[in-house]
Amino acid sequence: MKRNGIVFVVSAPSGAGKTTLCKELIDLFPRLRHSVSYTTRPRRQGERDGSDYHFVTAERFSAMVAAGEFAEWAEVHGNCYGTAIQTLDDWRAAGEDVLLEIDCQGAAQLKRTCPGAVFVFILPPGFAELRQRLEGRDTDAPEVIERRIANASIEVREAAWYDYVVVNDELPRALEELKGIVVAEGARARRVLPGVAEEFRIPLPAADSGGQGSQP
Ligand code: ADP
Ligand code: 5GP
Repeated sequence: MKRNGIVFVVSAPSGAGKTTLCKELIDLFPRLRHSVSYTTRPRRQGERDGSDYHFVTAERFSAMVAAGEFAEWAEVHGNCYGTAIQTLDDWRAAGEDVLLEIDCQGAAQLKRTCPGAVFVFILPPGFAELRQRLEGRDTDAPEVIERRIANASIEVREAAWYDYVVVNDELPRALEELKGIVVAEGARARRVLPGVAEEFRIPLPAADSGGQGSQP
């Protein structure tokens, strides 16, 4: 069925399991694409440039900010991260749904500028479990882990303004919940009706019939 692409914005404190859950979600929904962000953070072992992130220098990142190339960007844990406008435009033009894994500061920017986007916050079951996951992942130095846990206690408060909150206690259960969100958002009347209204002669409210292009 033809409909406009949906922008899903997913945030979580580092170590909550966002990357793990989002990878599984993208495997399940052929229409859902991962937005590849730009970052100045050094590449971790196993990460690939252009598919996990576009890894760029601080100078290149600043130049992109100055040129207005980002839909949102933020400094997180001492590094810069951003979503290029071009990345979102490419997927939207193709009618694909796009999944952004970004921090709360970036999500708050999109809340203002991207009407129709869907905001999902992933919580770990608790702080002790969060620490265990960060240590178990074995990708960050102890001082980096401490900084991420300190930030987490502030970040979790942002969950209050998101559309959905998923507690990632058991991975399969949390994934089911996320799947439910993606399916339900795709079935929203305002997204489905424009594609079938003509066939069934269903009248659309003026804003929906005319403004769909800007309502992802
Ligand atoms: P994030 O992207 O939010 O920083 P990751 O997806 O890298 O987090 O997950 C952090 C660590 O926790 C990884 O080692 C991952 O395998 C593990 N993990 C993710 N979800 C769960 C879960 N529900 N239960 C136990 N461990 C998990
Ligand atoms: P990591 O270094 O663990 O990959 O990511 C650290 C944090 O940066 C995570 O909270 C992640 O969601 C966030 N992040 C990744 N890409 C972007 C982005 O493009 N914009 C913003 N604002 N945050 C991002």
